[in-house]
Amino acid sequence: MVRPAVIRARWVLPIDAEPIQNGEVVVENDQIVEVRPVSSLPDSDVRNLGEAILIPGLVNTHAHLEYSFLRGYDEKTPLFPWIRHLVALKAQVPQDHWLPSAMMGAAELLASGVTFVADNSDTGVTAEAIARSGLRGRVYQEFFGIGEEASDEAILNRLSEQLETHQTTIQRFGAEGRVETGISPHAIYTVRDSLMKQIGGWAAQRNLALSLHASESYSEVALTRAGSGEFAQMFNERKIPYASPRVQPIEYLASTGVLGPKTQLVHCVRVEPLEINLMAKFQCAMAHCPRSNAKLLSGIAPLQEILRAGIPVGLGTDSAVSSGSLDFFEEIRCAAWLQRATRHTPKPAAKEWIEIATLGGARAMGLDSQIGSLTPGKKADLCAIRISRAAFGSAPDPFTALVFAAQAPDVILTMVNGQTLYEEGKWLTLEMDKLRAFPWQTPAEAFAD
Ligand SMILES: [Zn+2]
Repeated sequence: MVRPAVIRARWVLPIDAEPIQNGEVVVENDQIVEVRPVSSLPDSDVRNLGEAILIPGLVNTHAHLEYSFLRGYDEKTPLFPWIRHLVALKAQVPQDHWLPSAMMGAAELLASGVTFVADNSDTGVTAEAIARSGLRGRVYQEFFGIGEEASDEAILNRLSEQLETHQTTIQRFGAEGRVETGISPHAIYTVRDSLMKQIGGWAAQRNLALSLHASESYSEVALTRAGSGEFAQMFNERKIPYASPRVQPIEYLASTGVLGPKTQLVHCVRVEPLEINLMAKFQCAMAHCPRSNAKLLSGIAPLQEILRAGIPVGLGTDSAVSSGSLDFFEEIRCAAWLQRATRHTPKPAAKEWIEIATLGGARAMGLDSQIGSLTPGKKADLCAIRISRAAFGSAPDPFTALVFAAQAPDVILTMVNGQTLYEEGKWLTLEMDKLRAFPWQTPAEAFAD
């Protein structure tokens, strides 16, 4: 029998219970078995983290890990030229780059205290990257389909094959139960109507979760409302017929049957009250990616209203190309600053932000019975943040310390299923020297205009 591990810290924040000053978490195999004030066990029998805050692992509800090495190569704005440029960059990337790029992304997440990632992957390599890294995650296989190149049937057949390949990969790395799959029709402007109308039923038959980029920009709203704007122009240029539904993006999605309790809507920057009602009615979840929305000049999602409607919300870093880094504390802090600066309210409070970053994200992913809080019976997914840096002061309020002062380099421990994956600057599952030494080829397109 494996001896239980006891992890002790100055603060333990279970999230679904009151913070414990001088607390400890008892882990047995892959589960949390007890969360309690410091016991009489001698230090030699425990892993004492000292001046640290122990919290559930952070839940990143939206990423594209495979693009990690492209960070800095696409600074175009706003969204439409950025996407166009990204497509041009992607066309130049040698195929052998995607996996190490995704693994670098996984490494960055682990070093930031993230234990779960929902990743929308075009190439599909993130199934392997997540499985190998030890992270918990969901890979939404992304697909596109607006041109004549492939029929709906061909696209769905390919999707089936990709999902089968992911299952094989997950088994090969013994990641069953830790890594799961879903699908992602990329967006309204990249997936045609006939395909969008089939995909809700297709996913339901297979019990698959869905993720879509939705209502990210004004251009997308212009497209669905009036058939105008940059995306409409792109359809024109490519001589692809597009019949504007003359409604808001989420209204359109509701009419296609793609919305439901297993559907995650990413961004929702431009949603109107009517669309928020639809999101609530269909029990969709939302991934809030404030840094990506800011960097691409998209705006700020109406989070106050979305939360008030009871919609499950998680935070997402999006890709390193659109947010600059996968430091999850930066995401939390940016989310908090933007709400304060633009909505003139301290809500959500620091405690609520940490809840959104953990249990809220888990709820948005439908995984809150397994992860998101330090609760006996849940998976031992957790992270610890050292608070000895001057910026933390005496850290009288650990939630405020995490939201306003913590950074990825303060993370000293990241654990998934009771396994230590990252500790004190070292990755235990990833060969960082090899990844760093990978002969990355700079895409020439990055320097053309
Ligand atoms: Zn995205």
